[in-house]
Amino acid sequence: MKKLLLHTCCAPCSTAVIEKLSRSTDFLITAFFFNPNIHPITEYERRKTELKTYLDKMDIPYLDRDEEILWRDQAKSWFAEVKGVEWASEKSRQRCEPCIRLRFETTAQQAKYRGFDVFATTLSISPYKDAEQINRLGLAVAKDTDIPFLEADFKQDGGYSRSIDLSRQEKMYRQNYCGCVFSRLERKHYVKIRP
Ligand code: SF4
Repeated sequence: MKKLLLHTCCAPCSTAVIEKLSRSTDFLITAFFFNPNIHPITEYERRKTELKTYLDKMDIPYLDRDEEILWRDQAKSWFAEVKGVEWASEKSRQRCEPCIRLRFETTAQQAKYRGFDVFATTLSISPYKDAEQINRLGLAVAKDTDIPFLEADFKQDGGYSRSIDLSRQEKMYRQNYCGCVFSRLERKHYVKIRP
């Protein structure tokens, strides 16, 4: 069995991904929450708490770097990464590229440091996310850090609808924006921003 470090963006997206990976006898999963993109901090804490509750229920071990790095410092590094493309829309994927890469780099570094065999992410389950972009970034980070990335498109084969069913069944909080302050403005106030 390979030890897999799974970057998890939130509880609802994690449900169907964990279910699918758990069915395979190939992986021993540990979840990792590293998402300095999420704003404001109340939302960050809410998503993290929801995820922890679910992981405890599923008996999935969990790795959290918040004890080592303050959310404020994580957020600073996120804003530095997206500087110059922050007002590009989620749809354009320009802003998402550095955001996703930053989260993958930390996940891969942690995976290597802690002796995991492979890393992966829940992100591709979202219909708003481009699996080609996610896999391309994952493979690039894998090459740089010398730790394999598990390519996937978890939204396929009914994965996304399964995540909705499971999260409803668990009565989970489901957010209505991806995570960053810009995606929040985009959804909440229908701000027209660059395509
Ligand atoms: S929309 Fe989501 S993936 Fe894209 S930059 Fe914002 S938080 Fe990151």
